[in-house]
Amino acid sequence: SSGRTLRLYASPLQGGGALLIIRDVTQLSMLERSRRDLVANVSHELRTPLASLKLLVETVQSSPPPDVAHRMLEQMAQEIDSVTQLVDELHDLAQIESGRVSLKLAPLPIGPVIERALERMRPQADRKGLTLGAEVPNGAQAVLMDPNRVGQILLNLLHNAIKFTAEGGSVQIRVRLVGEDAGQAGPWLLVSVCDTGVGIPATDLPRIFERFYKVDRARTRHAGGTGLGLAIAKHLVEGHGGRLWAESVEGRGSTFAFTLPVA
Ligand code: ADP
Repeated sequence: SSGRTLRLYASPLQGGGALLIIRDVTQLSMLERSRRDLVANVSHELRTPLASLKLLVETVQSSPPPDVAHRMLEQMAQEIDSVTQLVDELHDLAQIESGRVSLKLAPLPIGPVIERALERMRPQADRKGLTLGAEVPNGAQAVLMDPNRVGQILLNLLHNAIKFTAEGGSVQIRVRLVGEDAGQAGPWLLVSVCDTGVGIPATDLPRIFERFYKVDRARTRHAGGTGLGLAIAKHLVEGHGGRLWAESVEGRGSTFAFTLPVA
């Protein structure tokens, strides 16, 4: 009733009686379940692109006109890219979750890290006619961070914001200083990525940071993505001692915000 899993071992003793051992294997069975879930999720995520590849290969084998064959080959390349991304992100998550990623922390200004991330994402935003920009206060304090990892967090958040925002919308990064965060004494730098996109239903909001969780699988299958990006970003923010969370109004947009300790 307490939600614990107990395992009972009994062995008869010489001369009568028995030895009873009760082991609390709650932690162990949670790990087993999480491993089973992971394997099930990975198999599911691999099956879709592989089925699609199989179909494409069969079509090309049936000698279609050259332009059709060419298009199929392009689609095959895309499916291979999506499997590669899944494997890369799984590897990254495994490294991070097992604590094998050490952050190279240094007191640095956030401005250049944001600029680099924006530059990387600009072509994608332009293709959709999105306004992409950042408001970083002049002389914003340095934060204690690993700039490559903070860059990765920003890229993940920007990538989603662009993906889930319709043509002509906007994606903005805002930065401000806060004294405390969720009761934790600061100062912290609060970085928000705000979009005017599709938003996230309130029932899904608490679950989007779980690995492989996607809102509306049909929609996201079309949009691409592994469902691992936010899980990775959350681990990385927490590795810096900060917090990552999301707010959203369906149909209006989403804001993903995280804190980093001021150096
Ligand atoms: P994915 O690779 O699918 O983007 P993530 O872990 O990055 O995986 O995101 C998980 C899910 O959260 C997405 O599939 C999407 O449903 C939802 N999501 C994340 N960011 C946004 C956003 N800015 N606007 C709307 N939905 C979002």
